[in-house]
Amino acid sequence: MLTLDDVTLVRGDFRLRASLDLPPGLTAVIGPSGGGKSTLLSAIAGFEEPVKGRILWDGRDLRGLVPGDRPVTMLFQDHNLFPHLTVAQNVGLALAPRLRLTVRQQAVVEDVLTSVGLEGLGDRKPAALSGGQVGRAALARTLLADRPVVLLDEAFAALGPALRHEMLGLVRDRLASQGRTVVVVTHDPQDARTFADGIVFVDDGVAHPTQATDIFFATPSQAARAYLG
Ligand code: ADP
Ligand code: MG
Repeated sequence: MLTLDDVTLVRGDFRLRASLDLPPGLTAVIGPSGGGKSTLLSAIAGFEEPVKGRILWDGRDLRGLVPGDRPVTMLFQDHNLFPHLTVAQNVGLALAPRLRLTVRQQAVVEDVLTSVGLEGLGDRKPAALSGGQVGRAALARTLLADRPVVLLDEAFAALGPALRHEMLGLVRDRLASQGRTVVVVTHDPQDARTFADGIVFVDDGVAHPTQATDIFFATPSQAARAYLG
């Protein structure tokens, strides 16, 4: 369980308060633009520290841990694939940061590429992949990184609806359903409704406690109603 215990985050004049639990499964973070969704994820990932409160993983305070030492992996919208590396190398970075993969590790990379539908495409550069294939490559690296917390900040926002749904389905089946704590920022409430177990609504400087998805949509708060329209 990931816990934000009475946390305050500050960016310039902006303040965000968060007191909430993120359980295993898929939680969608939704709310108006500029509300603080990216700020929330970035603090969990360790790119910034709370000015107040604690972020805990299974009871352990993460304060002071740099992003690489946290139990967290984060996917951004550009999927942070290196353009000069092949798909297999990009994915292999999760196993060997200096890219000296053993024969066994190379086989593991091939297996994970196959499992996300990229069989035989390991030698391509990212520029030679479709948008959906790039998303799959990023997902493959996340699978190999094997961290219990996975954060996606509008990672698939550039894809059309059909591909986005396919990717979110893969994230749910391969990451969230396997016991990971997956937190997905989306600007599409319908995606949240379809794929998420829980919702964190972020608005007006507050990240509200996680609510079960059906309850959030059945009985939205006044602010949530204003956002959902
Ligand atoms: P969201 O992801 O929900 O659109 P963000 O977390 O990116 O929102 O931003 C929340 C608020 O923080 C924004 O309204 C903006 O005013 C402020 N903000 C974001 N980045 C910075 C920054 N680098 N410096 C100062 N203020 C920032
Ligand atoms: Mg954002």
